[in-house]
Amino acid sequence: AMTAQTLRALIRTIPDYPKPGIQFRDITTLIRDPAGFRLAIEMLKPAVARHGVSLIAGIEARGFIFGAALAQELGLGFVPIRKKDKLPGRTVGINYALEYGSDRIEIHADALAAGDRVAIIDDLIATGGTAVAATRLLRSTGAEVPVAAFVVDLPALGGAALLHAESVDVFSLLAFE
Ligand code: IMP
Repeated sequence: AMTAQTLRALIRTIPDYPKPGIQFRDITTLIRDPAGFRLAIEMLKPAVARHGVSLIAGIEARGFIFGAALAQELGLGFVPIRKKDKLPGRTVGINYALEYGSDRIEIHADALAAGDRVAIIDDLIATGGTAVAATRLLRSTGAEVPVAAFVVDLPALGGAALLHAESVDVFSLLAFE
């Protein structure tokens, strides 16, 4: 039977991408495999469903792949969290620090309604900078963010702990040390 170990074996590690010394965990090999892709969504489903969320928000770009599939599976709508200047309508955004420089993520200003409970989905959490910014952005509209779910956690980088300190329940399918 397929297990979390199966998922681990389907994730490819690319050395020195995007920079020397970085081990990039590549999920394209996982989603290329129909049983692996399905298993990932099936394992994310209960962890998100138990929070009674009303909406799924996926982070550009790989969070769209898992987030949209999960939204369909849960019968929920999907909101894209995009990099700056990609969304056509009026947006709200947040700037956040990177190792070198800064970045900005945005959502449509009318994407969330009062009382929405939103789950954040991405392929991977590293330092947590992106997911913490996404949490703050969604909450700035009045929405609740009870949970964030990832395929891969890199616990050595501390992102899950940082996000948990923001009162978000953090769930991941597997960790790479
Ligand atoms: P963080 O903000 O440092 O937690 O970085 C997480 C963001 O960068 C997510 O949107 C990931 O998709 C991306 N990312 C960082 N490292 C990797 C990796 O090794 N594989 C895939 N995505 C990564």
